[in-house]
Amino acid sequence: MLARHLLSRRAKFIHWNAARLYSEGVRQLNTVGEEDLAHFAKILPESCILSTLPPKPTATNDELAPYNTDWMGKYVGQASTVLKPKTTQQVSEIVKWCWERRIGIVPQGGNTGLVGGGVPLKDELLLNLGGMNKVRSFDPVSGVLVADAGCILEALSEHIAPHHHIMPLDLGAKGSCMIGGNVATNAGGLRLLRYGSLHGTVLGLEVVLPDGTILNQLSTLRKDNTGYDLKQLFIGSEGTLGIITGVSILTAAEPQATNNIILALPSFDNVQPLYTKVKRHLSEIMSAFEYFDRASYDLAIKHGHGKALSAEDVEGAECFVLVETSGGKREHDEQKLDELLETLMEAEEPLINTGVLSSSPAQFASLWAIREGITESISKEGKPYKYDLSVPIHAFKDVVDITREHLRSKGLLREDAVKQVMGFGHIGDGNLHLNIVADRFTPEIQAALEPFIYELVASYKGSVSAEHGVGVMKAHALHYSKDATSRALMKRIKDLFDERGIMNPGKVLE
Ligand SMILES: Cc1cc2nc3c(=O)[nH]c(=O)nc-3n(C[C@H](O)[C@H](O)[C@H](O)COP(=O)(O)OP(=O)(O)OC[C@H]3O[C@@H](n4cnc5c(N)ncnc54)[C@H](O)[C@@H]3O)c2cc1C
Repeated sequence: MLARHLLSRRAKFIHWNAARLYSEGVRQLNTVGEEDLAHFAKILPESCILSTLPPKPTATNDELAPYNTDWMGKYVGQASTVLKPKTTQQVSEIVKWCWERRIGIVPQGGNTGLVGGGVPLKDELLLNLGGMNKVRSFDPVSGVLVADAGCILEALSEHIAPHHHIMPLDLGAKGSCMIGGNVATNAGGLRLLRYGSLHGTVLGLEVVLPDGTILNQLSTLRKDNTGYDLKQLFIGSEGTLGIITGVSILTAAEPQATNNIILALPSFDNVQPLYTKVKRHLSEIMSAFEYFDRASYDLAIKHGHGKALSAEDVEGAECFVLVETSGGKREHDEQKLDELLETLMEAEEPLINTGVLSSSPAQFASLWAIREGITESISKEGKPYKYDLSVPIHAFKDVVDITREHLRSKGLLREDAVKQVMGFGHIGDGNLHLNIVADRFTPEIQAALEPFIYELVASYKGSVSAEHGVGVMKAHALHYSKDATSRALMKRIKDLFDERGIMNPGKVLE
C-alpha cells in the first residue's frame, strides 16, 4: 500500500486561516489508507469505525462533519476516518499501528474545546474517546473516582451525587465535555477558586504513549513522592504527548449548603474593592466570584439563559458579579450573605446598586444559568472570536474597552462586521474571557485582532491562554507567554515522547 502523503495536491484547505497552520511535522505524516482501515477492522468492531474511504465507505461526509468541525464552527478538518475505541488495549493497538505507519492522530473528547485543538488540521486520523465511558471505581470514603477518559463530566457528577460528592470542576460545557478532554486541556471553570486546578486534584492517569505503550499511572494515592510526577506533563498537553484513557481524580464532599447572589454594580471600578470586601466577609464559605459585563448579561438573557432580573435591579448597572457560597450550615451561610448584602447596601458610598439573593434551588440554578449561558448565547448571536486571557483584575475592563476602540478605529465596529465586544470571567482566578462577536469570520477582523490582543496582554505581563489551552489557535502566539528557553524545553519534551510527531500535529507547538 502506498500511504497517501498529507501534502497531496487533492488536499483542500477549508479553514480560511489554515495556511499558516501547517507545520513541518504535519507535512511529513501519512494519512489513513485502505490497508490501514483493514488493520483497524481487526482491532475494532465495524460499528466503531466511521470512514468515507473507498471501496467500502461506512460513513458519509455529513456524518463525519460533527467530528471534523469544532464547537465554534471556526476550525474544520478533513479526517476521512473516525475510530471510536472502547478499551485502552484497542487504543494502544491503533496508536502502535499509526506510530509504525507515521499516521497523524487527533484525540477527541466531547469536541467542546475553544482553540481548535480537537479537530484535524487536515486529514489526520480522528480518535474519538466517547466509546470509553465507564466508571471504573468510586470510593465514597476517600472520594477518589477512577473513570474512563470518555466519561462525560455531567455523567460523573450524577454518578457520585448519591454518595454526596461533587466533581472538583464545573463548566458550561459539562453536558458534552469529557473528563479526558478536561484533563488534556487542564480545564479551569467555575469551581477552581474553591477546589484548585486539575494539577492538584488529578491523582493519576492512564495514558497510551505515541508508540502504543500503555503508561499506567492510575494511582489513587494523595501522596506519592517517588520522583518525577509524570502525570503532570499530560495535564494540559492537549493530546500532543499521548492519549489519556483513564483518569483518577479526587472529588470533593458535597457542601451542605450552597447559595448564590448576583450583585449589580454601577461601575467596573467597584469590582476590586467589592472582591476584597466579599472575600473578607464570607471567608471560607466563598466558592465562586464570577464577573460579567452588561453586554454579556443582556445577551444571555436575550437567548433565554436564566431569568432576567427586574428592570429596577439592572437599571444603571455597568456590570455584575455572581458570588457563590458553599458551606456547612444553610442558616449560617444565609445569615452571612444577608449581612453582606446589608453592609453593601447601607455603606455611605455603596459599591453596588442592588443584589439578588437566590432563595430556592430553582433560583440558584437560574442565577447560575445567566453566567453559564454567556458562552452559548455568544455563539447564537454571531461568529465568536474568543480570547481567554489571564490579566490583572484591574485591567479586565481596559482590555475590553481598548479592543473595542481599536476595532472602531479600524472601521470594523458595524453590524456587518464586529457586532459586539464583551468581557466576562473568573475574577478570583484573574481570568478574563474577551469575546468579539462578528457577523462572520473574516481575515480583516482577524488581522485587526492579532497580534494586537496578544501584545496588549503581554503589556500587562498576562497569559494568552488562561484555561482553554493553546490548540491551533494560539500555537503561533506561545512566545507572548513562554520565553525561548521554556519553548525549547517544551519542544524537547515533545520530541522525547513523540519523535515522529504523530500526536495532534500542529497543536500547541508550531
Ligand atoms: C459552553 C462552553 C463553556 C466552556 N467553559 C469552560 C470553562 O469554564 N473553563 C474551561 O477551561 N473551558 C471551558 N470550555 C472549553 C472546553 O469545554 C474545555 O476545554 C473542555 O475541557 C474540553 O473537553 P472536551 O472533552 O470537549 O475536549 P475536546 O474539545 O474534544 O478536546 C480538547 C483538546 O484535548 C485533546 N483531548 C481530548 N481528549 C483527549 C484524551 N482523552 N487524551 C488526550 N488528549 C485529548 C484534544 O486533542 C484537544 O486538543 C467551555 C466550552 C464551551 C463550549
